[in-house]
Amino acid sequence: MARIIGFIGLGNMGGPMAANLVGAGYRVQGFDLTAASCDAASAAGVSIVGSPVEAVDGADTVITMLPAGAQVIQVWNEIVGIIPPGTLLIDSSTVDVESANKTHALAQARGCPSVDAPVSGGTGGAKAGTLTFMAGGSAEAFSRAEPILRRMGKAVFHCGDAGAGQAAKICNNMILGISMIAVCEAFALGEKLGLTHQALFDVASVSSGQCWSLTSYCPVPGPVPTSPANNDYRPGFAAGLMLKDLRLAQAAATAAGAATPLGAEAARLYARHEALGRGGEDFSGIIRMLRNAPEGEAAR
Ligand code: NAD
Repeated sequence: MARIIGFIGLGNMGGPMAANLVGAGYRVQGFDLTAASCDAASAAGVSIVGSPVEAVDGADTVITMLPAGAQVIQVWNEIVGIIPPGTLLIDSSTVDVESANKTHALAQARGCPSVDAPVSGGTGGAKAGTLTFMAGGSAEAFSRAEPILRRMGKAVFHCGDAGAGQAAKICNNMILGISMIAVCEAFALGEKLGLTHQALFDVASVSSGQCWSLTSYCPVPGPVPTSPANNDYRPGFAAGLMLKDLRLAQAAATAAGAATPLGAEAARLYARHEALGRGGEDFSGIIRMLRNAPEGEAAR
Protein backbone atom coordinates (compact mmCIF):
# COMPACT_ATOMS: atom_id res chain seq x y z
CA MET A 1 0.00 0.00 0.00
CA ALA A 2 1.20 3.51 -0.82
CA ARG A 3 2.06 5.29 2.40
CA ILE A 4 2.70 8.90 1.41
CA ILE A 5 0.66 10.66 -1.23
CA GLY A 6 1.55 14.10 -2.62
CA PHE A 7 -1.70 15.91 -3.48
CA ILE A 8 -1.54 19.13 -5.52
CA GLY A 9 -4.75 21.16 -5.98
CA LEU A 10 -6.94 21.18 -2.87
CA GLY A 11 -9.98 23.04 -4.24
CA ASN A 12 -13.65 22.10 -4.19
CA MET A 13 -12.87 18.61 -5.46
CA GLY A 14 -9.26 18.00 -4.46
CA GLY A 15 -9.74 19.10 -0.84
CA PRO A 16 -12.39 16.51 0.05
CA MET A 17 -10.66 13.83 -2.06
CA ALA A 18 -7.42 14.37 -0.12
CA ALA A 19 -9.43 14.27 3.13
CA ASN A 20 -10.83 10.86 2.18
CA LEU A 21 -7.30 9.56 1.63
CA VAL A 22 -6.34 10.80 5.10
CA GLY A 23 -9.41 8.97 6.44
CA ALA A 24 -8.20 5.81 4.70
CA GLY A 25 -4.90 5.94 6.58
CA TYR A 26 -2.55 7.57 4.06
CA ARG A 27 -0.22 10.42 4.96
CA VAL A 28 -1.20 13.14 2.50
CA GLN A 29 1.20 16.01 1.78
CA GLY A 30 -0.90 18.73 0.15
CA PHE A 31 -0.16 21.93 -1.73
CA ASP A 32 -2.44 24.61 -3.18
CA LEU A 33 -1.87 28.22 -4.23
CA THR A 34 -4.77 29.57 -2.16
CA ALA A 35 -4.75 29.82 1.61
CA ALA A 36 -8.46 29.01 1.97
CA SER A 37 -8.04 25.66 0.18
CA CYS A 38 -4.99 24.85 2.33
CA ASP A 39 -6.80 25.76 5.57
CA ALA A 40 -9.81 23.57 4.78
CA ALA A 41 -7.61 20.61 3.84
CA SER A 42 -5.45 21.11 6.90
CA ALA A 43 -8.54 20.93 9.11
CA ALA A 44 -9.27 17.55 7.51
CA GLY A 45 -5.83 16.20 8.39
CA VAL A 46 -3.84 16.94 5.22
CA SER A 47 -0.23 18.00 5.96
CA ILE A 48 0.12 21.30 4.14
CA VAL A 49 3.51 22.07 2.58
CA GLY A 50 4.89 25.13 0.81
CA SER A 51 5.45 23.91 -2.77
CA PRO A 52 4.74 21.08 -5.21
CA VAL A 53 8.35 19.96 -4.73
CA GLU A 54 7.78 19.54 -0.96
CA ALA A 55 4.48 17.76 -1.61
CA VAL A 56 6.18 14.98 -3.57
CA ASP A 57 9.08 14.56 -1.12
CA GLY A 58 9.13 10.90 -0.06
CA ALA A 59 5.80 10.18 -1.79
CA ASP A 60 5.29 6.99 -3.77
CA THR A 61 2.16 8.42 -5.42
CA VAL A 62 1.35 11.94 -6.62
CA ILE A 63 -2.17 13.15 -7.45
CA THR A 64 -3.03 16.43 -9.20
CA MET A 65 -6.54 17.97 -9.17
CA LEU A 66 -6.16 21.31 -10.97
CA PRO A 67 -8.37 23.57 -13.09
CA ALA A 68 -7.12 22.69 -16.59
CA GLY A 69 -4.36 21.22 -18.75
CA ALA A 70 -2.02 24.24 -18.53
CA GLN A 71 -1.75 24.02 -14.73
CA VAL A 72 -1.32 20.24 -14.80
CA ILE A 73 1.53 20.41 -17.31
CA GLN A 74 3.16 23.24 -15.35
CA VAL A 75 3.05 21.27 -12.07
CA TRP A 76 4.13 17.97 -13.62
CA ASN A 77 7.07 19.78 -15.28
CA GLU A 78 8.05 21.11 -11.85
CA ILE A 79 7.99 17.74 -10.10
CA VAL A 80 8.83 15.13 -12.66
CA GLY A 81 12.56 15.82 -12.64
CA ILE A 82 12.85 15.25 -8.89
CA ILE A 83 10.62 12.24 -8.19
CA PRO A 84 12.27 8.82 -8.20
CA PRO A 85 11.53 6.66 -11.25
CA GLY A 86 8.66 4.31 -10.39
CA THR A 87 6.64 6.98 -8.56
CA LEU A 88 2.98 6.69 -9.62
CA LEU A 89 1.49 9.87 -11.14
CA ILE A 90 -2.29 10.35 -11.28
CA ASP A 91 -4.07 13.36 -12.77
CA SER A 92 -7.76 13.57 -11.86
CA SER A 93 -8.39 17.03 -13.36
CA THR A 94 -10.59 17.31 -16.45
CA VAL A 95 -8.20 18.31 -19.25
CA ASP A 96 -7.99 18.11 -23.04
CA VAL A 97 -6.78 14.85 -24.52
CA GLU A 98 -3.64 16.53 -25.91
CA SER A 99 -2.58 17.77 -22.45
CA ALA A 100 -3.28 14.32 -21.01
CA ASN A 101 -0.98 12.80 -23.61
CA LYS A 102 1.72 15.38 -22.80
CA THR A 103 1.61 14.51 -19.09
CA HIS A 104 1.86 10.79 -19.85
CA ALA A 105 4.91 11.51 -22.05
CA LEU A 106 6.57 13.48 -19.23
CA ALA A 107 6.00 10.58 -16.82
CA GLN A 108 7.20 7.97 -19.28
CA ALA A 109 10.43 9.89 -19.93
CA ARG A 110 11.13 9.70 -16.18
CA GLY A 111 10.24 6.00 -15.92
CA CYS A 112 7.09 6.69 -13.91
CA PRO A 113 3.75 4.91 -14.43
CA SER A 114 0.93 7.40 -15.00
CA VAL A 115 -2.86 7.44 -15.14
CA ASP A 116 -5.33 10.05 -16.36
CA ALA A 117 -8.29 9.54 -14.01
CA PRO A 118 -10.91 12.29 -14.32
CA VAL A 119 -14.02 12.02 -12.20
CA SER A 120 -17.75 12.36 -12.32
CA GLY A 121 -19.93 12.90 -9.27
CA GLY A 122 -19.31 16.54 -8.34
CA THR A 123 -18.43 18.05 -5.00
CA GLY A 124 -21.04 15.92 -3.22
CA GLY A 125 -19.39 12.77 -4.55
CA ALA A 126 -15.93 14.08 -3.64
CA LYS A 127 -17.03 14.62 -0.02
CA ALA A 128 -18.91 11.33 0.26
CA GLY A 129 -16.14 9.33 -1.44
CA THR A 130 -18.58 8.16 -4.11
CA LEU A 131 -16.93 9.55 -7.26
CA THR A 132 -16.75 7.63 -10.52
CA PHE A 133 -13.20 7.44 -11.90
CA MET A 134 -12.51 6.94 -15.63
CA ALA A 135 -8.90 5.88 -16.00
CA GLY A 136 -6.48 5.73 -18.91
CA GLY A 137 -3.01 4.21 -18.78
CA SER A 138 -1.13 0.93 -18.89
CA ALA A 139 -2.48 -2.12 -17.04
CA GLU A 140 0.44 -1.87 -14.59
CA ALA A 141 -0.20 1.81 -13.84
CA PHE A 142 -3.91 1.19 -13.43
CA SER A 143 -3.40 -1.75 -11.06
CA ARG A 144 -1.33 0.50 -8.78
CA ALA A 145 -3.79 3.41 -8.99
CA GLU A 146 -6.99 1.44 -8.53
CA PRO A 147 -6.80 0.77 -4.74
CA ILE A 148 -6.07 4.47 -4.14
CA LEU A 149 -8.88 5.65 -6.40
CA ARG A 150 -11.27 3.25 -4.64
CA ARG A 151 -10.67 5.19 -1.41
CA MET A 152 -12.18 8.24 -3.11
CA GLY A 153 -14.83 6.67 -5.33
CA LYS A 154 -17.46 4.00 -5.61
CA ALA A 155 -16.72 3.06 -9.23
CA VAL A 156 -13.36 2.87 -11.00
CA PHE A 157 -13.18 2.00 -14.70
CA HIS A 158 -10.08 1.23 -16.76
CA CYS A 159 -11.13 2.75 -20.09
CA GLY A 160 -7.97 1.98 -22.06
CA ASP A 161 -4.51 3.36 -22.70
CA ALA A 162 -3.18 6.85 -21.97
CA GLY A 163 -5.84 9.51 -22.58
CA ALA A 164 -8.80 7.10 -22.57
CA GLY A 165 -10.04 8.39 -19.20
CA GLN A 166 -10.24 11.96 -20.51
CA ALA A 167 -11.93 10.72 -23.69
CA ALA A 168 -14.61 8.94 -21.63
CA LYS A 169 -15.07 11.99 -19.42
CA ILE A 170 -15.68 14.47 -22.24
CA CYS A 171 -17.99 12.06 -24.11
CA ASN A 172 -20.03 11.53 -20.92
CA ASN A 173 -20.24 15.24 -20.21
CA MET A 174 -21.27 16.00 -23.78
CA ILE A 175 -24.22 13.63 -23.23
CA LEU A 176 -24.96 15.45 -19.97
CA GLY A 177 -24.83 18.96 -21.49
CA ILE A 178 -27.08 17.98 -24.38
CA SER A 179 -29.55 16.04 -22.20
CA MET A 180 -29.83 18.89 -19.68
CA ILE A 181 -30.75 21.30 -22.46
CA ALA A 182 -33.32 18.79 -23.78
CA VAL A 183 -34.94 18.44 -20.35
CA CYS A 184 -34.96 22.23 -19.85
CA GLU A 185 -36.61 22.78 -23.23
CA ALA A 186 -39.25 20.15 -22.42
CA PHE A 187 -40.15 21.88 -19.12
CA ALA A 188 -40.20 25.31 -20.80
CA LEU A 189 -42.52 23.95 -23.50
CA GLY A 190 -44.69 22.17 -20.92
CA GLU A 191 -45.10 25.45 -19.02
CA LYS A 192 -46.39 27.17 -22.18
CA LEU A 193 -48.77 24.26 -22.75
CA GLY A 194 -50.18 24.52 -19.23
CA LEU A 195 -48.56 21.29 -17.97
CA THR A 196 -47.48 21.25 -14.33
CA HIS A 197 -43.85 20.44 -13.58
CA GLN A 198 -44.93 17.47 -11.49
CA ALA A 199 -47.14 16.03 -14.23
CA LEU A 200 -44.34 16.18 -16.81
CA PHE A 201 -41.88 14.73 -14.31
CA ASP A 202 -44.21 11.87 -13.33
CA VAL A 203 -44.71 10.85 -16.95
CA ALA A 204 -41.21 11.41 -18.38
CA SER A 205 -39.37 9.89 -15.41
CA VAL A 206 -40.96 6.48 -16.14
CA SER A 207 -41.18 6.89 -19.92
CA SER A 208 -38.77 7.13 -22.83
CA GLY A 209 -37.68 10.67 -21.87
CA GLN A 210 -36.11 9.36 -18.65
CA CYS A 211 -32.51 10.44 -18.08
CA TRP A 212 -30.19 11.54 -15.22
CA SER A 213 -30.74 15.25 -15.96
CA LEU A 214 -34.43 14.68 -15.29
CA THR A 215 -34.56 12.19 -12.45
CA SER A 216 -31.46 13.13 -10.42
CA TYR A 217 -30.97 16.76 -11.34
CA CYS A 218 -34.38 18.09 -12.36
CA PRO A 219 -33.94 21.72 -13.58
CA VAL A 220 -37.19 22.97 -12.02
CA PRO A 221 -37.91 23.12 -8.26
CA GLY A 222 -40.16 20.50 -6.72
CA PRO A 223 -39.96 17.04 -8.29
CA VAL A 224 -36.39 16.23 -7.10
CA PRO A 225 -35.92 18.03 -3.77
CA THR A 226 -32.11 17.69 -3.79
CA SER A 227 -31.59 19.30 -7.22
CA PRO A 228 -29.95 22.79 -7.40
CA ALA A 229 -33.19 24.22 -8.84
CA ASN A 230 -34.52 24.07 -5.27
CA ASN A 231 -31.57 26.16 -4.10
CA ASP A 232 -31.78 29.06 -6.57
CA TYR A 233 -29.40 27.20 -8.91
CA ARG A 234 -26.40 27.39 -6.59
CA PRO A 235 -23.88 24.75 -7.80
CA GLY A 236 -23.69 21.77 -7.88
CA PHE A 237 -21.83 21.74 -11.11
CA ALA A 238 -21.22 25.25 -12.40
CA ALA A 239 -22.33 26.21 -15.92
CA GLY A 240 -18.81 27.51 -16.59
CA LEU A 241 -17.37 24.03 -15.94
CA MET A 242 -19.97 22.50 -18.24
CA LEU A 243 -18.93 24.98 -20.93
CA LYS A 244 -15.30 24.03 -20.37
CA ASP A 245 -16.13 20.33 -20.85
CA LEU A 246 -18.27 20.98 -23.94
CA ARG A 247 -15.41 22.97 -25.46
CA LEU A 248 -12.99 20.12 -24.71
CA ALA A 249 -15.40 17.77 -26.49
CA GLN A 250 -15.55 20.12 -29.49
CA ALA A 251 -11.76 20.40 -29.64
CA ALA A 252 -11.47 16.60 -29.52
CA ALA A 253 -14.20 16.20 -32.16
CA THR A 254 -12.44 18.63 -34.49
CA ALA A 255 -9.08 16.91 -34.00
CA ALA A 256 -10.62 13.46 -34.56
CA GLY A 257 -12.89 14.48 -37.45
CA ALA A 258 -16.05 13.42 -35.56
CA ALA A 259 -19.42 15.05 -36.28
CA THR A 260 -21.07 16.30 -33.07
CA PRO A 261 -23.69 18.84 -34.18
CA LEU A 262 -25.72 18.72 -30.96
CA GLY A 263 -22.55 18.94 -28.88
CA ALA A 264 -21.58 22.05 -30.86
CA GLU A 265 -25.01 23.60 -30.31
CA ALA A 266 -24.86 22.80 -26.58
CA ALA A 267 -21.46 24.55 -26.37
CA ARG A 268 -22.90 27.58 -28.18
CA LEU A 269 -25.89 27.77 -25.78
CA TYR A 270 -23.72 27.43 -22.66
CA ALA A 271 -21.35 30.12 -24.03
CA ARG A 272 -24.34 32.46 -24.41
CA HIS A 273 -25.48 31.57 -20.89
CA GLU A 274 -22.02 32.38 -19.52
CA ALA A 275 -21.97 35.68 -21.43
CA LEU A 276 -25.09 36.63 -19.46
CA GLY A 277 -22.93 36.41 -16.32
CA ARG A 278 -24.33 33.05 -15.23
CA GLY A 279 -21.24 30.85 -15.48
CA GLY A 280 -21.13 30.53 -11.69
CA GLU A 281 -24.69 29.23 -11.44
CA ASP A 282 -25.48 25.55 -11.57
CA PHE A 283 -25.59 24.30 -15.17
CA SER A 284 -29.28 23.37 -14.84
CA GLY A 285 -29.97 27.12 -14.48
CA ILE A 286 -29.72 27.39 -18.27
CA ILE A 287 -33.49 26.82 -18.22
CA ARG A 288 -33.83 30.50 -17.26
CA MET A 289 -32.13 31.55 -20.50
CA LEU A 290 -33.92 28.95 -22.62
CA ARG A 291 -37.34 30.16 -21.41
CA ASN A 292 -36.42 33.58 -22.79
CA ALA A 293 -34.89 32.51 -26.10
CA PRO A 294 -34.63 35.48 -28.45
CA GLU A 295 -37.32 35.94 -31.11
CA GLY A 296 -36.57 33.70 -34.04
CA GLU A 297 -35.02 30.95 -31.91
CA ALA A 298 -38.33 30.02 -30.39
CA ALA A 299 -39.50 28.02 -33.41
CA ARG A 300 -36.33 27.74 -35.44
P1 NAD B 1 -11.28 24.49 -7.93
O1 NAD B 1 -11.05 25.74 -8.70
O2 NAD B 1 -12.19 24.50 -6.76
O3 NAD B 1 -9.86 23.90 -7.42
C1 NAD B 1 -8.68 23.98 -8.16
C2 NAD B 1 -7.57 24.31 -7.17
O4 NAD B 1 -6.32 24.27 -7.86
C3 NAD B 1 -7.70 25.69 -6.56
O5 NAD B 1 -7.76 25.58 -5.15
C4 NAD B 1 -6.46 26.43 -7.04
O6 NAD B 1 -5.95 27.33 -6.09
C5 NAD B 1 -5.51 25.28 -7.28
N1 NAD B 1 -4.44 25.59 -8.21
C6 NAD B 1 -4.49 26.19 -9.43
N2 NAD B 1 -3.27 26.24 -9.98
C7 NAD B 1 -2.42 25.66 -9.10
C8 NAD B 1 -1.03 25.40 -9.11
N3 NAD B 1 -0.25 25.75 -10.13
N4 NAD B 1 -0.49 24.76 -8.04
C9 NAD B 1 -1.28 24.39 -7.00
N5 NAD B 1 -2.60 24.62 -6.93
C10 NAD B 1 -3.16 25.23 -7.97
O7 NAD B 1 -11.74 23.41 -9.02
P2 NAD B 1 -12.47 22.02 -8.71
O8 NAD B 1 -13.94 22.21 -8.73
O9 NAD B 1 -11.81 21.38 -7.53
O10 NAD B 1 -12.11 21.22 -10.05
C11 NAD B 1 -10.84 20.62 -10.24
C12 NAD B 1 -10.89 19.80 -11.52
O11 NAD B 1 -11.93 18.82 -11.41
C13 NAD B 1 -11.22 20.64 -12.77
O12 NAD B 1 -10.46 20.15 -13.84
C14 NAD B 1 -12.71 20.39 -12.99
O13 NAD B 1 -13.09 20.52 -14.35
C15 NAD B 1 -12.83 18.95 -12.51
N6 NAD B 1 -14.18 18.55 -12.03
C16 NAD B 1 -14.90 19.37 -11.22
C17 NAD B 1 -16.16 18.97 -10.79
C18 NAD B 1 -17.00 19.86 -9.89
O14 NAD B 1 -18.20 19.57 -9.71
N7 NAD B 1 -16.43 20.91 -9.30
C19 NAD B 1 -16.67 17.73 -11.19
C20 NAD B 1 -15.90 16.90 -11.98
C21 NAD B 1 -14.63 17.31 -12.41
